[in-house]
Amino acid sequence: MYLDKYLEKKGKNSGVIAFLAGLDHIQKISKEVADSIVQELKDQRSYLKMIASENYSSLAVQLAMGNLFTDKYSEGIPKKRFYAGCDNVDTVESLAIEEAKKIFGVDHVYVQPHSGADANMVAYWAIIIQKVQNRELEKFNKKLEELTDKEYEKIRELLINQKIMGMALSSGGHLTHGYRHNISSKMMISHSYEVDPKSCMLDYKKIQEKVKKEKPLILLAGYSSYPRLINFAKMKEIADSVKAVFMVDMAHFAGLVAGKVMKGEYNPVGYADIITSTTHKTLRGPRGGIILCTEEFKDVIDKGCPLVLGGPMPHVIAAKAIAFKEANSKEFCDYASNIVKNAVALAEKLKSLGAKIITDGTDNHLLLVDVNKSFGITGRQAEKALREAHITVNRNTIPLDENGPWYTSGIRIGTPAVTTLGMKEEQMKELGEIIFEILKNTRSIIKNGKKSKAEVEVDKNALEKGKDRIAQLLKEFPLYPEIII
Ligand SMILES: *Cc1c(COP(=O)(O)O)cnc(C)c1O
Repeated sequence: MYLDKYLEKKGKNSGVIAFLAGLDHIQKISKEVADSIVQELKDQRSYLKMIASENYSSLAVQLAMGNLFTDKYSEGIPKKRFYAGCDNVDTVESLAIEEAKKIFGVDHVYVQPHSGADANMVAYWAIIIQKVQNRELEKFNKKLEELTDKEYEKIRELLINQKIMGMALSSGGHLTHGYRHNISSKMMISHSYEVDPKSCMLDYKKIQEKVKKEKPLILLAGYSSYPRLINFAKMKEIADSVKAVFMVDMAHFAGLVAGKVMKGEYNPVGYADIITSTTHKTLRGPRGGIILCTEEFKDVIDKGCPLVLGGPMPHVIAAKAIAFKEANSKEFCDYASNIVKNAVALAEKLKSLGAKIITDGTDNHLLLVDVNKSFGITGRQAEKALREAHITVNRNTIPLDENGPWYTSGIRIGTPAVTTLGMKEEQMKELGEIIFEILKNTRSIIKNGKKSKAEVEVDKNALEKGKDRIAQLLKEFPLYPEIII
């Protein structure tokens, strides 16, 4: 039994006790599930997490999710529910909303989206409903329910033919920003803007030209793998020039906005009409999404369920309330500021050793290394070699990638998780050296006279040395040190 063993060691942390007692209980139903949770803890403790979109949430966040709130249906919003018995859900949802309003300094927040992708879908449809459907209804001077089938069909055709313009996936945008394999490009006509092929940075003049030409309903800013700041004041101006709705997806950098690192023109609040985000990346909460919006959109956004979403998840909303409270603190601001300091230190170290960094550095929590130019290997090979050395990163396309999205020419490295562990610039320099040494000593395997794009061979000495250094770092900066298992 996990708890008994822990208590023998005189543990007293209530979070740990709850976690271990939970494991003991789960084990009675399924040993496999309990074992997998424990194994995941062990894996996360023995591999250094440098995936830019991941983090380590607090035990309080995790425990707030694991309880009977999961059993409640609570369609509607606090105090206006379609189900009885939602008093306590109202309390936690209101708390989550108030904390989020405080963090970001906004007047309206919707905390029900189940994920970042769902938040985007709610935002897109809310914009389409507000700007297209509601305008048409005014012309008919009828309510939606009062339209004939023929009238409704006329409106419906308009709804599914609106234009969106976001950052191209190949430039660092996200799948949900109009990628052909995502619903966003099927329900809307999608045109994207790209980064400048030379600098790999946003070119606002080119965006302005493209926006003028296409006149999208939605101009979208935000990314999953762009290492620089976005000037939201400029983007808002561009959107205004064609009366587009300006939407920002801050899924990756919400924690940096919450932590007051992204300020002024680099903070989307005050510029964007609608802001979507995940809650589990730099914001360090449970898996989920949120939407911030202006007065104009609040009524449609609040109807995200049933417009797009299934019933809210009160257990996750409870965990959001905890995470947002944690983010409303001086500690979180220090954390956010350290994330960026660490990313800069890591980029500088890699650069000084001779690695090619896309845009030559970073302003945020992530950096992209061109491993093809730097080491003559693919992103897939770099990802594999680093994992062998117990560093987890993910491969990523770089602008104008010659290796395509499967093999790629880059890796994306993020500092949110290692910063949660307490690492600082000194450790980033060490990590930069380790990463560089591993990749420098990684070679493609030759198969049938051809250089493989996937298989690698890492020099044994370099690998052992790298692994030892990572193990040492993980020992110095343990994950959930209070959990003894
Ligand atoms: C991660 C991410 C999402 C999707 O978040 P999920 O919670 O995985 O749905 C959406 N937009 C951007 C920019 C992201 O980086």
